[in-house]
Amino acid sequence: MASAKEPGAQRYLPERRTLGALREAAAQCRGCTLYRDATQTVFGEGHRGAPLMLVGEQPGDHEDLEGHPFVGPAGRLLDRAVRDAGIDPAQVYVTNAVKHFKFTRREGKRRIHQKPGRTEVVACRPWLIAEIDSVRPEVVICLGATAAQSLLGPSFRISTGRGELLCLPGLAGSNGRPRVLATVHPSAVLRDRSDQHAQAYEAFVDDLRIARNAVTGGSAPLVHPAV
Ligand code: SF4
Repeated sequence: MASAKEPGAQRYLPERRTLGALREAAAQCRGCTLYRDATQTVFGEGHRGAPLMLVGEQPGDHEDLEGHPFVGPAGRLLDRAVRDAGIDPAQVYVTNAVKHFKFTRREGKRRIHQKPGRTEVVACRPWLIAEIDSVRPEVVICLGATAAQSLLGPSFRISTGRGELLCLPGLAGSNGRPRVLATVHPSAVLRDRSDQHAQAYEAFVDDLRIARNAVTGGSAPLVHPAV
């Protein structure tokens, strides 16, 4: 539950739960204090019925300025990995667990990413749940611990639960969908400058393939038109 200090996004949700109405309402959200310093709300993008939903942590510096998710260097790596996994990017809805950029300032100007706290993740969760309800993906892919813990609980660990198709607690319908799969955040792959970088990238693509195969039921590329 959201605390008294962070009242949470629930009260800002509109009656109509179309993606357009949600996006418009989220632009006015004051459910936690992150809106104060960020440039704008960065809501998810994609279409209703997209079979895959990718959930990152929060917008970064580029995303905050441009108002779109995953448009920075991590987004470019993610786009490449999605394609390498045989997924048409048009079949993916992309969003974040937290919709405002959290940062500190260094040397007066530079904005340094700060990991959102549990309180902020919980405060922002109603937007993510509303997006899942509206898009109705078959698989939600959590990119990194923040997204995974938003949906699977604070005790979830990427190190032990990575790459497994799980039920989404409290949200799965009678057909067991959506299922959820957790993997690393693309920025972790990007930051890996070691000689293990290629393996880290391949492991990331392999996780995306598991989600793709859960949708297609096999190894065919995910390119069919959305329902
Ligand atoms: S981070 Fe989420 S809960 Fe906090 S103000 Fe932004 S949209 Fe609202």
